[in-house]
Amino acid sequence: MSRSRNTNRLAKKIRDRTQLTLSTASRLARQANNYLGPSIADSPDPHQRRLEAHMTHVLASSFQDHQLNGALLGVREAEPEAQGVKLTLESDMADEVLRELLPRFDHDYGGIRGVPGLRVRGSKRRLVLHDAVSPAQVTVTRADGGSFRLPSARDGEVLLWNRFPDGLSGDEKQEAEEWTDSRGINDLRVRDLLMSRIMRRPGLINRTAAPHGFANCYTHHAGDLVIEWCCGDTVETLCAVLLAHGFADDVPRANVIELVSRHSAHLGDRTVILNRHGSCLYGRNAKYIAESIRKGYAT
Ligand SMILES: [Zn+2]
Repeated sequence: MSRSRNTNRLAKKIRDRTQLTLSTASRLARQANNYLGPSIADSPDPHQRRLEAHMTHVLASSFQDHQLNGALLGVREAEPEAQGVKLTLESDMADEVLRELLPRFDHDYGGIRGVPGLRVRGSKRRLVLHDAVSPAQVTVTRADGGSFRLPSARDGEVLLWNRFPDGLSGDEKQEAEEWTDSRGINDLRVRDLLMSRIMRRPGLINRTAAPHGFANCYTHHAGDLVIEWCCGDTVETLCAVLLAHGFADDVPRANVIELVSRHSAHLGDRTVILNRHGSCLYGRNAKYIAESIRKGYAT
C-alpha cells in the first residue's frame, strides 16, 4: 500500500477514535512516519493488566531520568504470553528493575516500596514475577542472557517478598487496596489499560529516550504517568505513532487525546502526560550525563 494511502488510513483512524478534526488527525498521521501496524495484544485478564500497570507506575517513579541506552523503564522488548507478558530487560538495569519492583518495607520512608504482593520464582536467567493472590505474572530475562541477582536488604528495609513467600503481609494488603481503589482517578479501567500498554510497547515509549539515552518520567499520584524529553520525536509524532499502534483503543472517545500545546499532550484524560521541551536541555553535556548514569549502575 502506498505511503499516502496509509497516511490517509491512519488519519481516519485517529479521527474516528478521537475528537480531533480530520485536518488535525491528518497532521498527526503525516508525522507518524510508519504504517498502521498490528496492535499489540492486551491481556484479557484485568488482574494481569492491573499488575502490569502497577509495575509501570513503580518503574517510572523509580528510574525518573536515570536510564541506560534509552530503556525508559528498563525494558527493551515485550512479548505477550498465554498468561502474562515476557519482558527483555536492559542488561545493566535489570537487577535494579528487580530491586524496585519486589516489595519491601522501608522504615526510613515509612511505608512500602515496590509492587505489593509481587513474588518471584524461576531460574536465575529467567525469573517469573508473579502476583501472590492472582494468576497475573510477568517473565523477565536480561537482554544479554545473563543471570539476575536478587536484591538484598539495605539498612532499614524488610524484604516482604522474601519474608512472606506465600501470601501478602498486612501492610501489602493495605497498599494493594489503595491501588485498586484510588480516589481521584476517574477511570481505573483506563488507567490499568494504558499503563499496561506502556509496558507492552517499549519500542515506542523508548523513542523518547533514544536521542540521549535517557529521558525523564515520574508520577504525581497513582493515576498518572508523565514522560518528559527533548530532541527526537515531537509530541505529535509520538502521539501519532502510539495511536497507530492501538494505544488508545477502547478508551472513551472524549478522553483519548487532548493536544494541550505543540509541546504537550494528555492521553486517556491525563493518565499519560507527554511533555517535550522546545529545545535541547543538555546539549554537549548529554554524553557526560549518560556516562555518570552508567557509573551509577556499575557501583
Ligand atoms: Zn536534547
